Amino acid sequence: MAYATIHKQPQDWRVSPNLGAGPDARAGFTWDVARSWLDGLPDGGLNIAHEAVDRHAAGPLADHVAIRWLGKGGEREDLTYADLRRRTNRFARVLEGLGLRRGEVVFALAGRVPDLYVAALGTVKAGCVFCPLFSAFGPEPVRQRLAIGEGRVLLTTRTAYARKVAALRPSLPHLEHVLLIDVGPDDATPEGTVSLAALMASASDEYTIAPTDPETPALLHFTSGTTGTPKGAVHVHDAVVMHHATGRFALDLHPDDVFWCTADPGWVTGTSYGIITPLTHGVTSIVDEADFDAERWYRILRDEHVTVWYTAPTAVRRLMRLGDELAREVDLSALRFVASVGEPLNPEAVIWGVTALGLPIHDNWWQTETGGIMIANTIAADIKPGSMGRPLPGVEAAVVRRGPQGVPRDRPVELVTQPGAEGELVLRPGWPSMFRGYLHDDERYRRCFVDGWYLTGDLATQDADGFFWFLGRADDVIKSSGHLIGPFEVESALLEHPAVAEAGVIGKPDPLAGEIVKAFVVLARGFTPDATLERELIGFGRSRLGAAVAPRELTFVEDLPHTRSGKIMRRLLRSMAKGEEVTQDTSTLENPAILDQLKQGI
Ligand code: AMP
Repeated sequence: MAYATIHKQPQDWRVSPNLGAGPDARAGFTWDVARSWLDGLPDGGLNIAHEAVDRHAAGPLADHVAIRWLGKGGEREDLTYADLRRRTNRFARVLEGLGLRRGEVVFALAGRVPDLYVAALGTVKAGCVFCPLFSAFGPEPVRQRLAIGEGRVLLTTRTAYARKVAALRPSLPHLEHVLLIDVGPDDATPEGTVSLAALMASASDEYTIAPTDPETPALLHFTSGTTGTPKGAVHVHDAVVMHHATGRFALDLHPDDVFWCTADPGWVTGTSYGIITPLTHGVTSIVDEADFDAERWYRILRDEHVTVWYTAPTAVRRLMRLGDELAREVDLSALRFVASVGEPLNPEAVIWGVTALGLPIHDNWWQTETGGIMIANTIAADIKPGSMGRPLPGVEAAVVRRGPQGVPRDRPVELVTQPGAEGELVLRPGWPSMFRGYLHDDERYRRCFVDGWYLTGDLATQDADGFFWFLGRADDVIKSSGHLIGPFEVESALLEHPAVAEAGVIGKPDPLAGEIVKAFVVLARGFTPDATLERELIGFGRSRLGAAVAPRELTFVEDLPHTRSGKIMRRLLRSMAKGEEVTQDTSTLENPAILDQLKQGI
């Protein structure tokens, strides 16, 4: 069903929009203009933490609340910009004291607690690279990422260390310092760990940021591919230009805003927009430690007078499921702009925003590699529900034709000019937060670019008005509750169980999570497929990978569809999981007889 365009009227917004709707609004914009909105370091260079913290702490915003932390159990803590400057200075001093050199990686495996935010900003102050890991990861994803990133420092909790890291220490030779955030300065710590509080207590709170070049690496975010190990996307300090500019254009941040990004910093949104962007604008940023809970969320929106809210489609769908009343009962009058990212936002959800929250939900699109929002529905522009919107100022996006093997590399790319025709979404490199490489994998990085375009791996169309519409991924990666999951990682973990001879993992459509991780398992000789073994394998997956990544469903099959070259045809499994007729070319299928059996297993 096609949904009517939502036409915006000037009376819809309470402040003057940062980005108007007319063509003039974008005129004259360049990335250098965006750079001029930042201060730069006093002695030259650019540092994310200076733009996010120190410059405000040195001015009239010193006593303004930078981060308002809401603890799971009802605790609260306000950190002003001055507090944040002192604490991040201490953290930078701690790293200095540990002998960390510029460019070395500091990992964090912790929930959304103030120390995580302090560590992120303190690390980049010290010229080191911050890499947040999702706290729900199991030991295997943690091990892989720590190993690839050659992390020298890990910030974590006592429990996470004992459950997920202690046993891995021998296989992580680079990991020298484990700093525990939940032990007091005088408490005993497990062997091989120290108390962060003890180190912070003896560190000075004065620190001068040494000049960091805009091209100095600052952040490392892992993302999942179809094959091989996770990819570590490297971002540099120049990314802050994009974070700030998109905070202005896509999120419409104004000085008095109270902003809430619900994403966890373990995923790129939670760092770019949950830490950096709001602080560069000097606004108050809400950090909630607890997981999704509809009543709690509405309470936060109301009690904290949130004005700009950035959330995810899965959360919106969960709120929708509970109906409009809950939303209508709370006073959301402070709220003036709502945006969402991470996966397709159903057109119904955009409309639900209007009826339940009093505001449409503005979908926007980006990915780990782009470091910041690229395509967006903005406050003053009309919304076509179901569309991701249009490229932001400074961003050039297009749709290009793909062949059976993807976008051909041996000739110039062919732009799809016919409105509505399908192809791969590509972007013209040059925006400041573009990733600068995959750690230790130059070849994989090079393969992302063809003929002067960056290939996003997403399939899309563009309509005659320049709006982009998401169709799906061009590859096999899974999007579950907004989290990107590589099927290969899940398959590899399952294979470690003696009962598993082979596994094929796909995303199965799910009304709430978008997709859930589903595994097809071929058993090793001597094992019987039954409910007990199914439960055991699901439990094994969770203990290895963590609940966010492990399969939620598992089906035993006698064989998997393979190409003649031996690759699992996950696309075929996916079509079947969607209940579609198999229309793909099955001529390369090595074992066509398997299809009937698989259909019954879905
Ligand atoms: P990640 O790198 O984990 O942030 O995931 C990025 C991927 O999420 C994109 O390549 C898309 O496949 C998907 N994605 C992000 N935003 C949207 C959106 N607004 N609509 C549809 N898919 C999205």
